[in-house]
Amino acid sequence: MPPSQTIMDQFPFLLTTMLVLLAACGSSNGQSPHTNMRPNEMSQYDHSGNPHYSHTDTAKLSVPLSEWRKLLPQELYHIAFEKGTERAFTGKYWDFEGIGTYACAVCGNVLFQADSKFSSSCGWPSFFQTARKDAILYHEDRSFGMVRTETTCGRCGAHLGHVFDDGPKPTGLRYCINSVSLEFIGKR
Ligand code: FE
Repeated sequence: MPPSQTIMDQFPFLLTTMLVLLAACGSSNGQSPHTNMRPNEMSQYDHSGNPHYSHTDTAKLSVPLSEWRKLLPQELYHIAFEKGTERAFTGKYWDFEGIGTYACAVCGNVLFQADSKFSSSCGWPSFFQTARKDAILYHEDRSFGMVRTETTCGRCGAHLGHVFDDGPKPTGLRYCINSVSLEFIGKR
């Protein structure tokens, strides 16, 4: 575990970016500067110099929830930090077939490769393995009268979904993930 960092250590360009966004979007309407942003534009909060924000560094983020609430779109915040779940068959990736990678929509941590995605008919994007061993963390979840294994982002701690043992070979696992929690990055 790296030593605790301040938010400005982790996001050295955060202040500048926020000021630019506030100027661009207008802060007088009371809306979050994220309101009109596309997911990839959130990369500016995470690091600079790369318009696509996937990365695989394992440094843990320790951003207060109050900061995430300000930075993230409402739906993403709800699923990531209030353990929400999108309705089945409504997400942007449940039946999506692209070649590339899926990163955490909150922090850009690469979570899955597209070649591990499979059609599970459950209504959520499903994968049989993670991109790296440390990409995801696992937690026992006893909510709703069930015993399940919750998955969270190994970097920022955002809730992603759950993993079940009814997946295909070679792992037999089914990572059932909210589309909202993912950002697809096509292979270039
Ligand atoms: Fe993350």
